[in-house]
Amino acid sequence: MTVLVVGSVALDSVETPFGKADDVLGGSGVFFSSSASHFTKVQLVGVVGSDYPMERLRGLEGRGVDLAGVETADGESFRWRGRYRHDLNSAETLETRLGVFSNFRPKIPAQFRDAPFVFLANIDPRLQLEVLKQVNRPRLIACDTMNFWIESRRHELLELLGRVDLITLNDGEARQLTEQSNLIKAAKWIMARGPRHVIIKKGEHGAFMFSEDRVFFAPAYPLENVFDPTGAGDSFAGGFIGWLARSGDLGEANLRRAVVYGSAMGSFAVEGFSNARLLEVTRSEITARIDEFARLVAFDTSLPA
Ligand code: AMP
Repeated sequence: MTVLVVGSVALDSVETPFGKADDVLGGSGVFFSSSASHFTKVQLVGVVGSDYPMERLRGLEGRGVDLAGVETADGESFRWRGRYRHDLNSAETLETRLGVFSNFRPKIPAQFRDAPFVFLANIDPRLQLEVLKQVNRPRLIACDTMNFWIESRRHELLELLGRVDLITLNDGEARQLTEQSNLIKAAKWIMARGPRHVIIKKGEHGAFMFSEDRVFFAPAYPLENVFDPTGAGDSFAGGFIGWLARSGDLGEANLRRAVVYGSAMGSFAVEGFSNARLLEVTRSEITARIDEFARLVAFDTSLPA
């Protein structure tokens, strides 16, 4: 089943302790699509400026990502500049230049409106709400957000919570949004406002999925070399939703499996700059990593006689 994603299509400039990359392909929509395209067909909606290297983005088409919803507008592309110091869990935003995103109004092409899975990746919550007016009763609507929007568009974000089935956000964002320091209380606060499931990501410390009174935890894959954490969250979401769309099963057991697929895709994303590693990873590497997750958390509960 197809996934429709609306998100940022950016040029990122990133500094990590291991190197530097300028004006590389980035944005929540791009990372999500690169990841989800391993599992299912993806329809991407976003905007780029006339300066965007479209030939690089077109590389996604060969992977089953339909770019008919990516508009080119006059002006500068969205740019994000960030730095990671030795704690690779938190990005320091040095600059956000909205460029053509400031005047963007998403237009969902007619052939995208029936997508059964919709992911509202990290963009202005006002745009996320506009998308929902243009789609026809998807089976699952999920969204993401970040501190930038929690600070500047809190009201619209709360309205959005009432319209989605699931939200993914990191622990800092969950605390900032809910003003609760305890993550269980934070998840309950969010679920009380709409979503049936809340996924709270904790970077290298894994991810929790809260659903009613149940909680599931998946570790992050222990990597010896993390090059660039940018896009880990969006790639997690791409693996999670991509797997759900591929299997079409929204039962609890499959949601748990999807969290592990999300963790696996997040771990590939951080092994290279931009979306490079995500694009080259093979089906068998993904399967092998899922198996390693199962071994990572397996233990024997029986007591010696
Ligand atoms: P993450 O998965 O959280 O690491 O997301 C990283 C991506 O988010 C980068 O590629 C950025 O281009 C993008 N990004 C950063 N700030 C914003 C913002 N305010 N709105 C939308 N996308 C953003």
